[in-house]
Amino acid sequence: MVDTWTLLIVDDCAADRKIYRRYLLQDPYNTYKIFEADCAESGLALCQKMHCDVILLDFCLPDMSGLELFDRLNKEILDTPKTVIMLTGRGDEEVAVQAMKRGAQDYLVKQYLKPDVLQLAVRNAIKQSYLQAQLYKTRERQRLIATTALRIRQSSDLEQILNTAVVEVQQLLKCDRVLLYQFAPDNRGKTVASSVESGETLAASHDIQDICQEVGGENHVWGCKLPITQVCEVGLSNDYLHLLEQFKTKDNLVVPIHLSNNGDRENPLWGLLIAHHSSQERQWQTDEVEMLNELSVQLAIAIQQAELLAQTQAALLKEKQLNTFKSQIVATVSHEYRTPLTSILAAASTLIKYGQQLNESKQQKFLGMIEEKARSMSKLVDNMLMVNQIELDKTRFKPIPLDLLQFFTDILEQAQETLTHEHELIFNSSGNYQDFWGDRGLLQQIFINLVSNAIKYSPNGGNIKFELIGTESDVMVYIKDEGIGIPIADQQKLFQSFSRGSNVGTIPGTGLGLAIAKSCVELHGGNIQLSSQIGQGTKVIVSLPKQPSFV
Ligand code: ATP
Ligand code: MG
Repeated sequence: MVDTWTLLIVDDCAADRKIYRRYLLQDPYNTYKIFEADCAESGLALCQKMHCDVILLDFCLPDMSGLELFDRLNKEILDTPKTVIMLTGRGDEEVAVQAMKRGAQDYLVKQYLKPDVLQLAVRNAIKQSYLQAQLYKTRERQRLIATTALRIRQSSDLEQILNTAVVEVQQLLKCDRVLLYQFAPDNRGKTVASSVESGETLAASHDIQDICQEVGGENHVWGCKLPITQVCEVGLSNDYLHLLEQFKTKDNLVVPIHLSNNGDRENPLWGLLIAHHSSQERQWQTDEVEMLNELSVQLAIAIQQAELLAQTQAALLKEKQLNTFKSQIVATVSHEYRTPLTSILAAASTLIKYGQQLNESKQQKFLGMIEEKARSMSKLVDNMLMVNQIELDKTRFKPIPLDLLQFFTDILEQAQETLTHEHELIFNSSGNYQDFWGDRGLLQQIFINLVSNAIKYSPNGGNIKFELIGTESDVMVYIKDEGIGIPIADQQKLFQSFSRGSNVGTIPGTGLGLAIAKSCVELHGGNIQLSSQIGQGTKVIVSLPKQPSFV
């Protein structure tokens, strides 16, 4: 195929211009659209009006020298580098050298000009200038990508990265909107960042979101309704491409964002980077597609780094919490064990030394004390093991069908044994609490702790009301006492391990019961709340789904 190039001859000699024109029109390889100017000013004016691929420039012009015109061309017409062939007279080599130094492509001595010489010189100049323009464009693109990528990757915060990315890409492509759509594991997804050109309506960007969502939900095929013109094909399976082909419209440019080593090989597709232009028709250029594609790679790296950092920080935090927890365990064990151990040792030595001299009831008293202290120490160990398992996420949850009425009757019978005559335990049940599934061991942890709190923190006795209410999908359990209550300031943190109210006085406890209860409730997918007034009593509400979601 023969290319057509635009050529400008600036020469004051009409005869010479005619010769050059004739020579060039004979070129078998290129065709030229030739413009002529007989002085520097009109040559300059033509260059300002249109793009010339090559300028043939006579060094001796009536209004200024060819070199001066060349300087003005470079200074006043800035779009692309100028491709100039200088025409000199015999003996003007000095001028030619200066022209070449200023960036002229070539020079020809007029007197020796033959058709093939001129044709070859122009063809070479065109080829060279084309390569230069390509190089210039590539460098410019690399520079833009590098600066944009730098800005995107400046932050380690995921949200900031995504927001910067859409703004930068929108500015780079000068389009109406840029969206980042992230797929969720179930292939549904959402727009996680968007940049909208001022004046554009946000509703329009929601359209894309809706489409993506709709599409994401359908049989794991996200592309089937997406109005896509040009989709970078990198890494997309043929299935996707085939589907995308059918829904081409005029103005979207979509590239996938693949995370390379996210450990989930089956779904490395993180999301889509969508550039949208609707204010006017737009045919995306190859280098724009390439640019967006390269930026999506940079973005993927930034996302991965941010996610990795967040994971590391979370792991560090967990590690720190575990360390604090371990120190608390050591502190609690040494503190809580010392007092009962001292009592046990004292009672045991008294029995060994003076056992013979003590009557039976006194001996029983010492033995009873040893048993009670040993029991409470054993409970402490159990609680700590339980909390440790919870902290390490090792607690097992094995739901089975449970008869709740029987279950709570057993719990309350056990509790009855520890009651003094000043306490009254009242149990009520209503509604439908059948078809309940739960983990018996974990439920015991919850309710034994709650009932024992209600008893323990009501040292002056009073009613302890226990109520079971069944609804269609949940059961609610209320445990209400008339004890010492909890100061408002303490209430928030009581579900954390080792946390106790400031009003407990000498009532023993380690601050683990509520933390255990909360974790066990959460394993059931339920909820626990507490309301209390100091001196008035405390009410704890536990709600549990009748059937945890994975039964
Ligand atoms: P243990 O680990 O032996 O259960 P504990 O009872 O101190 O010790 P939690 O059951 O976790 O620990 O309770 C935490 C704190 O919440 C208690 O120390 C107490 O201050 C407060 N609390 C819990 N239940 C009640 C209640 N029914 N009335 C008043 N205060 C309560
Ligand atoms: Mg307790």
